[in-house]
Amino acid sequence: MPNDPAVIADTLAGRLAAVRAAIAEAARATGRDPSDVILVAVGKTYGAEVMEEAIAAGQRIFGENRVQEAAGKWPGLKARWPDIRLHLIGPLQTNKVKDVLGLFDVVQTLDRAGLAEALVKARDRGAALPELLVQVNTGKEPQKAGVDPAEADAFLARCRDEWRLPVTGLMCIPPADEPPALHFALLREIARRNGLDRLSMGMSGDYATAVRFGATMVRVGSAIFGARPSVTTG
Ligand SMILES: *Cc1c(COP(=O)(O)O)cnc(C)c1O
Repeated sequence: MPNDPAVIADTLAGRLAAVRAAIAEAARATGRDPSDVILVAVGKTYGAEVMEEAIAAGQRIFGENRVQEAAGKWPGLKARWPDIRLHLIGPLQTNKVKDVLGLFDVVQTLDRAGLAEALVKARDRGAALPELLVQVNTGKEPQKAGVDPAEADAFLARCRDEWRLPVTGLMCIPPADEPPALHFALLREIARRNGLDRLSMGMSGDYATAVRFGATMVRVGSAIFGARPSVTTG
């Protein structure tokens, strides 16, 4: 039964199509154009050959949370498919900024002055900076990266006026044990009052909710690639 939905959903291409369909449905349900929502396929822990399967299924935008892993996996793929866009969705140490330049097209995890200043230094030396999103720690979780929501406006003002960084939006990872909707709404409100239109929010468990709350990028891993070994998250 090649047309059995259960069989189709059990291939990478089928799962990818199902995620795209759910994004489109959530967008339409709130009167949005589905093409306004970017699907970032999070390939962490999976090898280049699995990424090639996703590329063959038409996916071009990918996310990785570790610079080291991405540096081993993506240069070859990007050379073969120049239209691939790679997003860094994990923490960036200042001494790794040089490894990110030219590899990542978007860094979603700008979260502190020291990193902003390291990016400015790289630009002063002639580097082209990636597009930047500021990560906001909407749940104020001590173990999580991100700017405190109460300090987000001031940090964004410095990015704009002092550092002149190409910040286009915000990113958040809500607490795992809370309904995400309030966090999505908070992120959207901070973006609105700062004139930013890109919102990266929503993962495998809650991306449809995130789209209904205005996400313009969702970061989906396990719903596309399958469950990861539990050692490597966030
Ligand atoms: C791993 C990861 C994701 C994807 O998580 P899934 O639940 O597998 O979809 C999204 N965002 C960040 C920051 C991640 O580290």
